[in-house]
Amino acid sequence: MIEVCDLRKEYGGFVAVEGSSFRVDRGEVFGIIGPNGAGKTTTLKALAGLLEPTSGTITIDGKRADSRETRRLLGFLPEESPLYEEMSPRSYLRFFADLYDVPRDVADDRIGRTLDRLELAHRDRALGDMSKGMKRKVAIARSLVNDPDVLIYDEPASGLDPLTTKYIIEFTRELAAEGRTIVFSAHNLYHVEEVCDRIAIMNEGRIVTEGSLPELKSTHGETVYHVFTTVEVPDATAEGDRYRRTVEDMDELDAVREAAIDRGGRLEDVRTVEPSLEGLFLDVASPERPGGEKPPGATEG
Ligand code: ATP
Repeated sequence: MIEVCDLRKEYGGFVAVEGSSFRVDRGEVFGIIGPNGAGKTTTLKALAGLLEPTSGTITIDGKRADSRETRRLLGFLPEESPLYEEMSPRSYLRFFADLYDVPRDVADDRIGRTLDRLELAHRDRALGDMSKGMKRKVAIARSLVNDPDVLIYDEPASGLDPLTTKYIIEFTRELAAEGRTIVFSAHNLYHVEEVCDRIAIMNEGRIVTEGSLPELKSTHGETVYHVFTTVEVPDATAEGDRYRRTVEDMDELDAVREAAIDRGGRLEDVRTVEPSLEGLFLDVASPERPGGEKPPGATEG
């Protein structure tokens, strides 16, 4: 179990993370999303024991995140993972397995199986000659050489084509199904929706909200209705040859219907607009965004 209590990280005088607290249970997948500069990478590096918090505590299974014992149970995938270009995946992964004192036969077996699962061919080709997607797969394989219980992944599918992204999403899900605890950040919200048990949305160094997707939607999102009329009614916007007004309940909808009839027209269509993770994200990332007709978390469905 990962427990983060009042995490704060300053760089010089700049506060990158402030007052972050959350808990991730064993076997859970926890996603951290938020705009650029929100503090995701800083949080993940602190979780992986690579950054010393300015204050606050992080424990993994009751032990400090930066302890030697914890590091052995942990796999970290940085956002950018420069690899040793002249090495092959096999020699590179063996090198890391040696750092973890994994016996050679165990390491070779594990590396072979991981690369099989990741469908990585050309295992003896120089890393420098590999595509970005192949290199990312090798970096993921590196995070698994010590067979860790806890995985901390920073933007695992960043910059990859849709096919490789899908592959990595599925792979993340498999790792979770094996009972590993996973904390990851992503800008790809589909990845987060597909894989995470719980999600935290960060902004300006703080966790603004946290919960399962249904919880976030019900707490922060609001279902509204787009009502289309054949004539202009108050607060409606023209859309093609008809008009659209957003309402929140049936009373308002009836009022729009009557307004349309009064003006010699009629109500033509009603669409339910459910909250979405993207809408919630946009709402949190820019709470005062101008001209937002949609309520928090709403996208048309
Ligand atoms: P992105 O989505 O762009 O990767 P992020 O949410 O991961 O962003 P962080 O990388 O954690 O954000 O950065 C949080 C803030 O801290 C940013 O304003 C960043 O400029 C700042 N920051 C990060 N690392 C350092 C550093 N080593 N020195 C000074 N400021 C830093």
